[in-house]
Amino acid sequence: MKQVSLDNGIEKLMIPGSKVAIVQEGNSLEHALLVLTKSGYSAIPVLDREYKLKGLISMSLILDAILGIEKIEYEKLSEMKVEEVMNRKVAWMRENGSFFRGLELSINHPFLCIVDENNTFIGILTRKSILAQVHNYLKFNT
Ligand code: AMP
Repeated sequence: MKQVSLDNGIEKLMIPGSKVAIVQEGNSLEHALLVLTKSGYSAIPVLDREYKLKGLISMSLILDAILGIEKIEYEKLSEMKVEEVMNRKVAWMRENGSFFRGLELSINHPFLCIVDENNTFIGILTRKSILAQVHNYLKFNT
């Protein structure tokens, strides 16, 4: 019978950085809104010029930032930068982190950012790929 292990690292499950939609902290909210809308994701990583992980930006953070007391202040989209609005608390792991750590973090986060020892962004691990691995494990090992 096929054996599926949960002890392997997370490298094989990771979506590499080259395939991840990202924005830079100095980008305008308008640009971030465009990337979020075109990619179809509700939240994406924010990096600096050196590709270091800085935060996450989401549709709801942008909408909250441009919502005035009585109306949406559209001009803020071009005036404000991503770094003013992004969430700096990011769930992250190293590439050599354990599958179980990924599973634990994914309880509260739809995706985890993977960084190297210099905090350089390498890719993401989605809750979907973690669940698929657990599903395979239970299917073939029980
Ligand atoms: P999924 O499990 O594919 O639904 O992805 C969960 C979340 O991970 C999405 O809502 C995004 O926030 C993020 N995500 C997944 N794939 C990508 C990608 N290629 N680029 C940027 N963010 C992604």
